[in-house]
Amino acid sequence: MPSSRNVVIIGSGPAGLTAALYAARGNLRPLVIEGLEAGGQLMLTTLVENWPGHRDGIMGPDLMAEMRAQAERFGAEIVQGDVTSIDITTRPFAIKTAEAEYSARALVIATGASARMLGWPGERKLVGHGLSTCATCDGYFFRGQEIAVVGGGDSAMEEATFLTKFASKVTVVHRRDTLRASKIMQDKAFANPKIAWAWNSEVEAIKDVEKGEVTGLVLKNKVSGVVSELPVSGVFVAIGHTPNTTLFRGQIDMDAAGYIVTKDGSKTNVPGVFACGDVQDHVYRQAVTAAGSGCMAAIDAEHYLEGVPSPFTSSVLSS
Ligand code: NAP
Repeated sequence: MPSSRNVVIIGSGPAGLTAALYAARGNLRPLVIEGLEAGGQLMLTTLVENWPGHRDGIMGPDLMAEMRAQAERFGAEIVQGDVTSIDITTRPFAIKTAEAEYSARALVIATGASARMLGWPGERKLVGHGLSTCATCDGYFFRGQEIAVVGGGDSAMEEATFLTKFASKVTVVHRRDTLRASKIMQDKAFANPKIAWAWNSEVEAIKDVEKGEVTGLVLKNKVSGVVSELPVSGVFVAIGHTPNTTLFRGQIDMDAAGYIVTKDGSKTNVPGVFACGDVQDHVYRQAVTAAGSGCMAAIDAEHYLEGVPSPFTSSVLSS
């Protein structure tokens, strides 16, 4: 028999854990299935300086540990595991992990997004062998070495700046001649003497798949057409993220990029199914907006379960 729940929350980043906190305080005794990347993307960051209330910043993993403990303090149950299948055509909803089966009256999807890869054949073979999407996890392995970061957004600037703590030189490879990153992150990177720039450059190949290690990047300048080799022993890919929505394909409305479509707060097109955080937000994608939308999902789920149409009379709002 599946374990029967009021609310099951899939995902344990800022969105999922905030939904858990609010649902727990609303006496719904929520179950959180934390997923393979427990704690979400903040587990892969260092200092988070834009989380309100921490004027000197807080380390990403510490922030997630606090959120988790806070949700548990109010009665949220958090289990390890990854959802392997889901059926939202039935009532209650049916959710399976490798270890257990659950039924839920309401479902909150907070599965987030994952790092995008270049799509170059062979790159996956080099993951963990010189190629990484997580500077915090792997930067230490490149002490005193020359490495590259691919991308021109905030993630690329953050990773490049962080990696200069270890590497002797970090070359940012960007496909255009202007950065997408915010001004403050750009300025920090431009001011760093260990960061070099390869503008208008596309990665044609990563060497050397045969050797099973990274020895360099083959770059093509999009303006001049010149192909050159950048000798590096590591490459960090920081080119954005893809929403983790494969499980829900064909069951929930998504946009062309695969993000879950929400309306009226966190509601999906399926009554009783709510989505929050990066899985439904390709615009703001901040920890604080993810947490805010997690709060909305819990309130919406509570109203759905009460059969209350308006979101403005909830006990959770006044707690
Ligand atoms: P992003 O803003 O989408 O930037 C992705 C970058 O990768 C862009 O420069 C893009 O180039 C490049 N790119 C995309 N696909 C590529 C490909 N196939 N080949 C080569 N380059 C490619 O992603 P992000 O940097 O991960 O940031 C996501 C969100 O998180 C943003 O809202 C950002 O502000 C936020 N963020 C904030 C912080 C912070 O405040 N501390 C840190 C990290 C992220 P183009 O510019 O040419 O499109």
